[in-house]
Order: sequence, then structure tokens, then C-alpha cells
Amino acid sequence: MENISILIVEDEQRLAEILKKQLEESGFNAEIALDGYIGRQLVEKNKYNLIILDINLPLINGYDLCREIRKTNSKIPIIMLTAFGTTDNKIAGFDVGADDYLVKPFDLRELLARVNVFIRRSDSYIRIPEKLGLADLEMDLNTKTVIRADKKIDLTAKESLLLETFLRNKDKLLTREFIIEQVWGIEFDPSTNIIDVYINYLRKKIDKDFEPKLIHTKFGFGFYCSDKEI
Ligand code: CA
Repeated sequence: MENISILIVEDEQRLAEILKKQLEESGFNAEIALDGYIGRQLVEKNKYNLIILDINLPLINGYDLCREIRKTNSKIPIIMLTAFGTTDNKIAGFDVGADDYLVKPFDLRELLARVNVFIRRSDSYIRIPEKLGLADLEMDLNTKTVIRADKKIDLTAKESLLLETFLRNKDKLLTREFIIEQVWGIEFDPSTNIIDVYINYLRKKIDKDFEPKLIHTKFGFGFYCSDKEI
């Protein structure tokens, strides 16, 4: 799966490195350009999903670089950073084609929140793999692929949702009502035995031929998913 790449054009090296580290911890790839000239070279050479662009930069300033990038790429989200928060500065940033504006010093969480908004919104958005796992079972939430002991297991939509509910709540005792609400919806009659039917289907597929068993019944309470008895 391809990764999301973010370019940081920022001449304050320490800040640039903090940003890079934060972005990488959030699952993105990040590259640093310490001046506008290198920034321009990297933009020409590589494909990025988002650019974080400081305004006061050596060689080519952020406004000029933003304007240049917009000549060839109208879509890539650009978040500008600046030490000046005046309305004139903001308008100038938006005039050259920036999508957003953050005034230094800013809260890193705020920057990350905005980055996430743009990445989710943008055309180039590629979903970050999100996986749930237990013992040798792994479920990819984007593709709904389930693998146990290197074997691919085909599940129906309901079985898949049931497994996801279990994996999201592993090692926790789940009542029948909770499971029905998660998988079939609140209007469903909790006295029905459909849940037992589906848990049997799921067990046949993910537990029958494997060890340890992952789905357990706690009589009188409900069910739980764990690689050990609780
Ligand atoms: Ca600067």
C-alpha cells in the first residue's frame, strides 16, 4: 500500500524535525526542505499529498513558492506557517493559493488535525491500512480481508462485522444485547437466536481448524474474544 507523503518546507531546523517526527508517528511519510529552493526542487521531483509551507524562507519565500506550485498543481493541499497572524498576512496566503494558515507558535495537535482533514478530503487520499489482530488472526478493516495462520478466510458481511466487534473489544465480556446492537442494530429483537447462529458460522471459519480458540461463550453472560480463557 502506498503511503501518504508530506513535504515540510521550513528553515527552522528544530521545528521542521519536530513536525517530521510527529507526522511520521501519525503514519505519514515526511520530508524536509530547509529553504524555498530545495522545496521547489522536491515538489518538481516527487509526488506529495500535502505541503506544509513556511512563509519566511531563504532563497524563495513561501508566497512565491506557493504561487509557483499552484501553476502546475491546483489540488495539493498547502498549509502555510507564519510568525505573523495579521489579517493581511492571511489574505496574502490565501491569495497565492494556500488552503490553510497556522500562526506560530501553534499546537502540534492542531496542525495534525488539519493535516488529517485535508488528507481525508483530498482526491489523492489513500487509506492508511488499519488492522485488528489477535493471536495469528489478522483483519484488515479497509479490505475486510481476514487471515488466520496465513490462510485467507472468506466471511459474509455480517460475519465480518461480528468479528470486527469482537476484535475491537478483545478480552472483554460482551453481552448478547451489545453484540446484537453492534451487528444487527438496536431495533433487533435481542431474544432471537440469530446471534448463536452467526457465532457458530464464525467459529467454523476462524476457530474450528485452528488453535487457540478465539471466540468463547460465557454461559449466562454472553461471549468474549480472547486467545486465553478469562
Ligand atoms: Ca522561517
